[in-house]
Amino acid sequence: MATAAAETQHLLERVESPETVQWVIALHGGAGGAQRQSLPEQTEQGVRRDLRLALQKGAAVLADGGRGPDAIVAALSVLEDSPRFNAGRGAALDEHGAARHDASIMRGEDRGSGAIAGSSRIKNPIVGAQAVMNQTANVLLNGAGADWFAQQSGLALVDPRYFVTDDRLKALSRVQQRAQTTQSNDILPDDLYGTVGAVVLDSHGNLAAGTSTGGRTNKRFGRIGDSPIVGAGTYASNESCAVSATGHGEYFIRWTVARDICARVEFARSTLDRAVATVLFEQLLAAGGTGGVVSILPGGLVVFGASTANMRRGVMTSGAPARVAVYSDELVTVLSDTN
Ligand code: ASP
Repeated sequence: MATAAAETQHLLERVESPETVQWVIALHGGAGGAQRQSLPEQTEQGVRRDLRLALQKGAAVLADGGRGPDAIVAALSVLEDSPRFNAGRGAALDEHGAARHDASIMRGEDRGSGAIAGSSRIKNPIVGAQAVMNQTANVLLNGAGADWFAQQSGLALVDPRYFVTDDRLKALSRVQQRAQTTQSNDILPDDLYGTVGAVVLDSHGNLAAGTSTGGRTNKRFGRIGDSPIVGAGTYASNESCAVSATGHGEYFIRWTVARDICARVEFARSTLDRAVATVLFEQLLAAGGTGGVVSILPGGLVVFGASTANMRRGVMTSGAPARVAVYSDELVTVLSDTN
């Protein structure tokens, strides 16, 4: 069953699973824009293809009895490798024209977490985050320290130029020109977005969440967003829910969005859709912050929410094919030729 808030451009979509469901993976590929932003057809098809492939890679891990974090890494690595998303190759560039990546991952059964911030050489930042979770007693490594750790751990490293695409260079120059003329650092409507994130219920009954991004175009050198901050951009606990967020990170950090949604479910006995709507539409929007989340309950109910007109996303469950959507007024549950 799916419902969407029809009277506004806001998205609030529930995707229910049968009681017999064994595993669920749901992901987002970034939220943005005040208006439905039709992409060139080839780009849109590429985005849908990437989302489906990411779901299928994650699903293959889950169908094999694999753990949630491994499914998240399999899915998000596909999107990090695609230049059509703001993560890994094709990440948004900072004010110096460099891609500096933020990523985090969290396990619901014991709150094990790992994150990297401001890394510039780890090919797949979500892999770096998982290595921090699995191999260290720490939660968050930053900058050169994160890259050095990845090298010591034998992770794939690349020349920083690998991440820089023409589209992102153009977006940076647009944003910088506009910042000069208007003294505003707002993101242009035609700027690309596309942070990536996923939530999972695995066949062991455990939740997990992960998020990966280049942050915001023209971000200040050294700026770190919500994506590597546990409780802000990512959260998972079997006692409540799992959330991955995308949007204006400074708001998601200050409103501890991912944790707040789960806390409402855990302590206020809120439904997940009510919790998502309250935090995104009533609290963040009122303060001026926009964005979206993908979230999941231990029973497998998925809720997508966004206060933007565009929200790339998808869901796949045991026993059903991958379903994807790009715009907030389009439901993942409606299957079509392009879906
Ligand atoms: N939340 C990310 C950040 O602020 C950006 C995004 O999700 O689009 O770094």
